[in-house]
Amino acid sequence: MKLKIAIQKSGRLSEESIRLLKDCGIDISNGLNKLKAEAANFPLEVFFLRDDDIPQYVEDGVADIGIVGENVLLEKNKNVKTVEKLGFGKCRLSIAIPRDKTFNSIKDLNKLRIATSYSSILSHYLKKKKVKAEIHEISGSVEIAPGIGLADAICDLVSSGSTLLSNGLKEVEVVLRSEAVLVSNKNLNKDKKELLNKLLFRIKALRSAKSNKYILLNAPNKKLKAICDILPGMKSPTILPLEEKGWSSVHSVVKEDQFWDIIEKLKDNGAQGILVVPIEKMIV
Ligand code: ATP
Ligand code: ZN
Repeated sequence: MKLKIAIQKSGRLSEESIRLLKDCGIDISNGLNKLKAEAANFPLEVFFLRDDDIPQYVEDGVADIGIVGENVLLEKNKNVKTVEKLGFGKCRLSIAIPRDKTFNSIKDLNKLRIATSYSSILSHYLKKKKVKAEIHEISGSVEIAPGIGLADAICDLVSSGSTLLSNGLKEVEVVLRSEAVLVSNKNLNKDKKELLNKLLFRIKALRSAKSNKYILLNAPNKKLKAICDILPGMKSPTILPLEEKGWSSVHSVVKEDQFWDIIEKLKDNGAQGILVVPIEKMIV
């Protein structure tokens, strides 16, 4: 029994999808120019596909699970389950117009022609905002549509915005924020569910490791109580006595997004020699 996973064959999600599996301890012989590959040390078969086809393959059960952008998932609207956000492939689906046009509110899009590969998401969005525009579905190079007179605006994926800039466009409205997600077929059998849970356990360990840091510091003993209150840790901080009398070493785990706030409070409470190190895997 093997779990079958579909990932993008070549594109923005490919490298990180393979790296995620690798970080989970799963080695796949490089699938370049191949349709599928088998993992050496986990009962996993990998299919390399176009990202647009992944939701359908997972719904049909040709693949049991898949890695795909939320943008594609929403556009295709297939009957699959989102299991876990993966934290990469982050982008926005945005509406952009020529830089020299004015834009005050979404109402300015009324009666415009908007070119996009995401006609379903866009039409729902416009309907919700009570805007009536004409949607032109095109499959690629959407950003050149205004320049060649095919459309007045576009709705396309953006990350840094440099493609928009080089085509004389400006972003005026974010329709959707997206990242890569792990999706699953809704009718996995018991054995496959077990394999998926095993994989998911590893993915979660990587994800929490990435969002946490290990912190070590020295503190005067009389400040220990205050410092431990700032540092909750996984259970509670570890405290070890230093050779120098009246001082201790404190070890704990802090969340990446609270990191700088915590460091400031620690310093204010007399912490010294603060070291922060990355965590490779974290099992909570
Ligand atoms: P395929 O040949 O598999 O159909 P594609 O050209 O449709 O590939 P890519 O451009 O490789 O797709 O993008 C794959 C996914 O990467 C997108 O659907 C999106 O979720 C994500 N992504 C992240 N940043 C960006 C970006 N700046 N532009 C486009 N996609 C992005
Ligand atoms: Zn695609």
